[in-house]
Amino acid sequence: MKITDVRCAIMGGSPIVRITTDAGIDGYGQAEFYKPYLKPHVLFYKDYLIGADPTDVERTMMRIRRMGAFKPWGAAVSAIEVALWDIAGKAAGLPVYKLLGGKVRDKVRTYITTNRYPMPTQSPEEYVENVLKIKEWPEQFSIFKQPISFHSPMAATIPDYFYGEIQPVGVHANRGLMTPAGFKHTLKCVEAMKLALGDDIGLALDCGPGFMATDALRFAKATEDYHLMWLEDMVTGDYTPYTLAHIYRDITSQTTTPIHTGEQMYLRQNFVELIKTQAVNVLGPDPLDVGGLAELKWIAEYADLHGIMMAPHGTGDGLIGLAALVHVSATLPGNFIAFEYAKANHEWWYDIIDGLPNPIVKNSYVDVWDAPGLGVTFNVPAAKKYLNDEDTGFFD
Ligand SMILES: [Mg+2]
Repeated sequence: MKITDVRCAIMGGSPIVRITTDAGIDGYGQAEFYKPYLKPHVLFYKDYLIGADPTDVERTMMRIRRMGAFKPWGAAVSAIEVALWDIAGKAAGLPVYKLLGGKVRDKVRTYITTNRYPMPTQSPEEYVENVLKIKEWPEQFSIFKQPISFHSPMAATIPDYFYGEIQPVGVHANRGLMTPAGFKHTLKCVEAMKLALGDDIGLALDCGPGFMATDALRFAKATEDYHLMWLEDMVTGDYTPYTLAHIYRDITSQTTTPIHTGEQMYLRQNFVELIKTQAVNVLGPDPLDVGGLAELKWIAEYADLHGIMMAPHGTGDGLIGLAALVHVSATLPGNFIAFEYAKANHEWWYDIIDGLPNPIVKNSYVDVWDAPGLGVTFNVPAAKKYLNDEDTGFFD
């Protein structure tokens, strides 16, 4: 089998990758809906891929893998990798999880990131109100991840939150030492949420990047009694093209609160220091940023040998991304906690993608399905109306 074309359409903000073959089998991948600018980057790889046998996923990936980078520039390579697995699965008549070594669980736990309602004052009361609303959602998520501090509007909303300049633009761009009042405000919000949620729901916090190392340790120690699931990306994280593993190691070694990072990272090689030095307790690579499904699986196995757990990132990955997350999560070892639920950014996505369970989430779990490849397909007539004018031939 040979690759005949690599296409990319932007649908609802998401780059959708479609790889076609001379056998009439095609495969799909999807990158985060925050990345509509990625289309030329996906198409850049086309000439390297034409003629390769997509069912030799690794051999095909060797053609392009080195030409990616940390978030957002690894996403194009990652979405292509997922599309290759989709083709390989369809060609073999097997679900992707079988090709990754087979499933070790029939249903996978998923967690929800809880920035779903406006919180204009960033008060403890608003934080409580927000999580209690999500507790009532029909999916009955068992782990919540709440953005706080520099990963939320808190740093820019609470006066004198930190000793630094508020950045007028940028994604999670604020950074600096917290004031005692800012630090205490953050803690009060955590305490209020934990009291309201009780022990039935695990609470993780997405924190930065932007913490100074001293604040990160102080915060991890101050929250030890709350039995948090993890503190995510305090020092480095979203769109930070490096990891500073030695700083994480210093924090992690001095607290019982689990420390987490990794969503922006690209390729297994960049995880070696974090894992080998046991710099964190939990890793959260995103399959659509890290280089794909095999990449994530390798990292999880190596992490498991070092006592490090896995909570893959994925909130912006869309429904094809959700399918990818379910397949790879089904194959991870016992260090898997849960993957981040990818909720579609437009309701119409649920009308144009077939193959997902209905309902998708039951009691915080997604049942693993058995259809070949990723097991999700476009309802092409319905999907066509969401194509941009320049992409009208995408499904042809
Ligand atoms: Mg995060």
